[in-house]
Amino acid sequence: MKLMLLRRLSSRLAFKQTVTFALLVLVIAWSAYALLARRIYGQIDEELQDRAIAVRSMLQIRAGSVKWLNAEADPEVRAHFERSMRYYELLDDEGRTLDASRAMSALHLPASSALPLSLQPDHNTWQSLTAGNTRIRILDEPVLGLAGRHFLLRIGTSLDEADEDCHRLQLFLFALVPFIILAHAANAWIMASYSLRRLELTSAAAKQITPFDLSTRLPVSGRGDEIDELSISLNAMISRMQSSFQRMTEFLRNLSHEIRQPLTVLRAETEQALRLGSSETNYRDMLSKQLEHVELLARTVSDLMELAQSEGEQVKLQREKEDLSELVQAAIDGMRPQAGERGIKISGTVQQNVIGAFDAGQIWRLLLNLLDNAIKFNHAGGHVDVILAVHHDAAIISVSDSGSGIIAEDQAHIFERGYRAPSARKSKVPGTGLGLHFAHGIAEAHGGRIEVGSVPGEGSCFRVSLPLLPASMSGETPTSTAHWDAPIN
Ligand code: ADP
Repeated sequence: MKLMLLRRLSSRLAFKQTVTFALLVLVIAWSAYALLARRIYGQIDEELQDRAIAVRSMLQIRAGSVKWLNAEADPEVRAHFERSMRYYELLDDEGRTLDASRAMSALHLPASSALPLSLQPDHNTWQSLTAGNTRIRILDEPVLGLAGRHFLLRIGTSLDEADEDCHRLQLFLFALVPFIILAHAANAWIMASYSLRRLELTSAAAKQITPFDLSTRLPVSGRGDEIDELSISLNAMISRMQSSFQRMTEFLRNLSHEIRQPLTVLRAETEQALRLGSSETNYRDMLSKQLEHVELLARTVSDLMELAQSEGEQVKLQREKEDLSELVQAAIDGMRPQAGERGIKISGTVQQNVIGAFDAGQIWRLLLNLLDNAIKFNHAGGHVDVILAVHHDAAIISVSDSGSGIIAEDQAHIFERGYRAPSARKSKVPGTGLGLHFAHGIAEAHGGRIEVGSVPGEGSCFRVSLPLLPASMSGETPTSTAHWDAPIN
């Protein structure tokens, strides 16, 4: 039970705070008691000293006999004198008692440490002793008599009252200190529980958040304190997770569509061919159509495999000395039939001998992705223009089209994994949203970058810059630019 209580943070905080506070209170109480006791007993000593002065002024010692002059003293001095007479004794310099009060004689005090007086004529000594139930404070004060003889005046007073005061003070502190400590413990526990109650609420809210329901948010009180700051940071993290999960779900939906669509067509066409039977020419036509769907499927699957391999890593390159001009030209040539089928004109302005250290396979993928997008998001009668040029030791490839364009909001996301603009999804243009993600990774892995500029409804331009090797390493310097303008087939 005790351990259970201490396991709670509020109890632990309250306990530690109370222990510290208790130690502090004990030190303060002890110091206060010591100071007060010192003052009480100090006052008694001062009073004894005053009494000794009063007694001395009343005392006349002549040839061993003592004479009191109090009859002539004023009333205040006399009152002092009478009070001091309860414990009084007068001794000569050899310790013989000349005069003593009854109470003092009954005490049978030992000889004073002030004796012999010849050695220490002005030395007052103090002692506290117990007689029966009474504690008495004694002052031994040397007094100079006539003819230069020293006597010892010894007066005392009861410490009962002072002891009683100190005892009362002790009782008061014994009652007060535990009360203060207990009150502080209760207060510390209440404050800690109250402050941490919000953490309990936050924890209860956090328990409701699951991968399937990320709509709950942690409570924010609006006080702007540390707990609020924590909740705000965690809420921002949950929002990021939510949108990432949403994108993942959307990506999976797109992907299923991308796989299901060609499969459905393949199945329908195969069933139709089997049902109707056909000539060899028709079979050939059908098989070549089916091949297209199979190729689409294969591309989707290879994109997926690539995605799985490159998860969280930079694209791995196998750089070799390559002629970028040849690669760009080959990509334009390779995409020409696809563009032609859709009635799109593809043109190229390719600077020759642009040589650098590239991974030809990855650059080929990048080019095909850009050209494929420029064609599939275009309209019949549109055009795609490809330019390769060298600018400030970098090869610049720009692919512009006269297609649908991309609104500014989508431009910020198109390089993210699996992102497809809502318009692309609605228009049923096939795709997985991975092409530009890969293109971006490939450009970055080559130390370059990819940017987009677009006017919705008018077209887009993707600009890739790739740093080139120094001329000494590339062997040849780019010199000429080949202009190529291919008509639609
Ligand atoms: P996919 O082409 O498979 O959809 P991409 O990663 O290649 O995926 O492109 C992401 C999105 O960027 C596309 O879904 C589309 O919305 C937009 N996009 C890319 N290129 C173009 C373009 N040339 N014209 C218009 N939109 C484009």
